[in-house]
Amino acid sequence: AADLPALTETDPTAKALGYVEDASKTSDAKHKAGDNCANCQFYSGGATGRGPCQLFPGKSVNAKGWCVSHTPKKA
Ligand code: SF4
Repeated sequence: AADLPALTETDPTAKALGYVEDASKTSDAKHKAGDNCANCQFYSGGATGRGPCQLFPGKSVNAKGWCVSHTPKKA
């Protein structure tokens, strides 16, 4: 499949959810150490690079990214 266009931090929905390209750069108090898109249940990409997120249809998020809707992947 063709790569999805990258979600940007300036996208209105991304802003609303506090999305950041690098989880280590967020200043949001809701962020827990170690949480990122790669270990979020809404993410379906690989451990590195970019991949789809159910909350941002048609866009790719950064495996190292994060937003306030982060939910740990089920084991
Ligand atoms: Fe990343 Fe999960 Fe937020 Fe999607 S819902 S942007 S995968 S933290």
